[in-house]
Amino acid sequence: MLLDKNTSIHLSCQQFDCDSFETSETETRLKFISRQKTGDVVCPYCLGSHVHVHGSCDAELKDAPVWTGTRQILDVRLHRYHCLDCGKTFMEETCLKYPGTRITPRAANWIRELLRWHMPISAVHEITGIHWETIRNIHLGMMEEALDWRRKELQDKGYRPEYLAVDEFAVHKGHSYATCVMDLVQGDVLWVGEGRSKECFNKFFEEFDLAYLSRRKGNRNGHERLIQHPCGASPSTCGDCL
Ligand SMILES: [Zn+2]
Repeated sequence: MLLDKNTSIHLSCQQFDCDSFETSETETRLKFISRQKTGDVVCPYCLGSHVHVHGSCDAELKDAPVWTGTRQILDVRLHRYHCLDCGKTFMEETCLKYPGTRITPRAANWIRELLRWHMPISAVHEITGIHWETIRNIHLGMMEEALDWRRKELQDKGYRPEYLAVDEFAVHKGHSYATCVMDLVQGDVLWVGEGRSKECFNKFFEEFDLAYLSRRKGNRNGHERLIQHPCGASPSTCGDCL
């Protein structure tokens, strides 16, 4: 016969065991203690194995909620180690923490899914209660991943932009401007630079890998004269710059 008093729930993740569990109407808090043995630790600096415990620190990590309207927090106690081979100290690695943040990987996935549907950062912050700077950094990481994926896809196809357009747009509510160069065929933005002056646009020729382009054509607007920059020739006759 199953008795309530004989039933226990044990939570663990790799070397971490859940030591206590507190819950209220608004918050659930789980405390995790590391059971890692010193003999299993390797110094990340010199790869030496002669380390000893040099203290500990507590990390408060925001997690995705399990219950509606109740935020979930993990309190994780981590070891600090001292390496006897190189003399450096370092913190214990944990899979419970999303790199560079104070949230769990599960909370990061929650944010990524909300952002994937083009939800504004302010709305994601309101839903999750997680600091907007953390959400912004995750968003930047997602955009970098998407751009790398796109770059590799075009590279694998051997694609090289042929028709370019240059345009400017206002940023900071019209207090400043930026210039962008686009591939008219695929619609990709190839380069973005601060300002809209000729000097600002000159940076395109310094920063962008021109060998990536197959040839250039202006879009017959005021920027066409800027594309003449590197050698002074018109866009249709210039062949030395590429
Ligand atoms: Zn070391």
